[in-house]
Amino acid sequence: MSDVLVFVEYAEGKPAKAGLQALGAGSRLAAELGGKAVALVINGDGAGLGPKGASRVLAVNGDAVKAYSPDGYARIAVDQAKAINAGAVLASATPMGKDFMARAAAKAGCGLAADCTELKLEGGKPVAIRPVYAGKALIAVQAAGTLWATLRQNAFAEATAGADVAPEAVKAPFAAGDLLAVVREIVEGVRGRLDVAEAEVVVSGGRGLKDPAGEGKQNWQNLEKLAETIGAAVGASRAVVDAGWRPHGDQVGQTGKTVSPKLYIACGISGAIQHLAGMSGSKVIVAINKDENAPIFKVADYGIVGTVEEVVPALTEAFHRALHG
Ligand SMILES: Cc1cc2nc3c(=O)[nH]c(=O)nc-3n(C[C@H](O)[C@H](O)[C@H](O)COP(=O)(O)OP(=O)(O)OC[C@H]3O[C@@H](n4cnc5c(N)ncnc54)[C@H](O)[C@@H]3O)c2cc1C
Repeated sequence: MSDVLVFVEYAEGKPAKAGLQALGAGSRLAAELGGKAVALVINGDGAGLGPKGASRVLAVNGDAVKAYSPDGYARIAVDQAKAINAGAVLASATPMGKDFMARAAAKAGCGLAADCTELKLEGGKPVAIRPVYAGKALIAVQAAGTLWATLRQNAFAEATAGADVAPEAVKAPFAAGDLLAVVREIVEGVRGRLDVAEAEVVVSGGRGLKDPAGEGKQNWQNLEKLAETIGAAVGASRAVVDAGWRPHGDQVGQTGKTVSPKLYIACGISGAIQHLAGMSGSKVIVAINKDENAPIFKVADYGIVGTVEEVVPALTEAFHRALHG
């Protein structure tokens, strides 16, 4: 029997969706292990996490943790993992989770299973499944001691049941001035835009949409309209980002973001291996490409052979009729 420590990330005073997904995954793993899911919240009140799967909530607040610090968060995670003798320590593979969990695992003398898409038990021990070689293969990771893992966003469901628990206040094991580095400011990109890594639906554009400052202007407007109609985030291939047509934050793929939405619509994207590495975990993939031999069709659940000029507005119109009458 062992407990699972789950870091639940907060954003703007509320638990982030990715944090709740990690807690859902942790609560299911803890149940299989016969232990408890213990939520670790830093700079957040920890309220309402019981019904999201936590059996205990540890909340660290105060001046020492007001600003995010990879060093500070790692120290807290290591201390709390030790205090509860955790069989596994989980966090979401958000930029913050990726940043401090590697450091924390190293401090604890363990490896890190990064960006996992499944958790299970084998021989009574937790095992994490993670894609490798740009998503071409999966490996199962089992730790000799505690399993430290980050979980891919949208690959795990939130928990929907659990009793209320009162958060327990935990003191940070350092003072504000003791840390090696703290984040002083976060400069946001375009405010209000849905992030591709978090969205449940993503519509991505590739080089086939052409230059938005020239002949592709209408294509990109059509893509934005499709995204707006179905509540999707707009993503892009690297070719598009390298050309300066979209910001780097939109890039999907090996050197961009990894996405696992319910629906991924690839428009004018060839389907290079580096692009597939970032989106092949999507639940349903739709590809629109004028070349019937484009590699993207090999991973697509639905393929439309046609031009984006023709297909994207027709699809938007059909979605509009179906969703908004
Ligand atoms: C180390 C490394 C890392 C990389 N990381 C990434 C990454 O993170 N993400 C990523 O995306 N790429 C990445 N790449 C680049 C990758 O190899 C491809 O070059 C890139 O994905 C191609 O982008 P694309 O599909 O938009 O463009 P193209 O390959 O040029 O494909 C354009 C597609 O549009 C179609 N098309 C053209 N006109 C139309 C039209 N009117 N209507 C419909 N279809 C049309 C064409 O048939 C074609 O299939 C990486 C490469 C390397 C070497």
